Amino acid sequence: MPRILLHICCGPCSIAPIRRLQEQGFEVTGFFYNPNIHPLMEYKRRRDGALEVAERMGIRVIVKDEEYDPQKYFRAITFREQNRCFHCYAMRMERTAQIAGRGRFDRFTTTLLYSKFQKHDAIASLGRDLQVGCPAKFHYQDFREGWKEGIEVSKEWGIYRQQYCGCLYSENERYQNELRNA
Ligand code: SF4
Repeated sequence: MPRILLHICCGPCSIAPIRRLQEQGFEVTGFFYNPNIHPLMEYKRRRDGALEVAERMGIRVIVKDEEYDPQKYFRAITFREQNRCFHCYAMRMERTAQIAGRGRFDRFTTTLLYSKFQKHDAIASLGRDLQVGCPAKFHYQDFREGWKEGIEVSKEWGIYRQQYCGCLYSENERYQNELRNA
């Protein structure tokens, strides 16, 4: 059974990708590494949601709490704020590829390919670049077809659903009207 390391950004986004990969015969291991999620308590809510999904779906998850360092995120995007998502994807996917290579996984991929709100083509292209010289190959799949399914199942299971992408910038964008209307 081929082994795949699946970078997981949150519980709801992981449901459809885990299902699809299991249907294709992969042994799936999750990888929760997201220093881009702010603040810490939000990180914890998403991590716990991801672990709940993993338990229900019978997969193991490598959690990198010890590497939860928002400074790493801010260093990666400072003075590149306009293109911050690209650097944010790169930071998380590079670590995923590294761990997949060291852990002798056959493939690596990410739940970022599930989101309709992320830059899908940039994520796919990063994955293809990162597989060069990496013992694990990138698995591209358009998980967006499972969008509705992921929403429905996460609601049914009561999994925490976030209101913004992750970083302080996205939180600000999500709630800026609150400030204007105050
Ligand atoms: S909006 Fe989302 S993907 Fe973009 S930098 Fe912030 S957390 Fe990362």
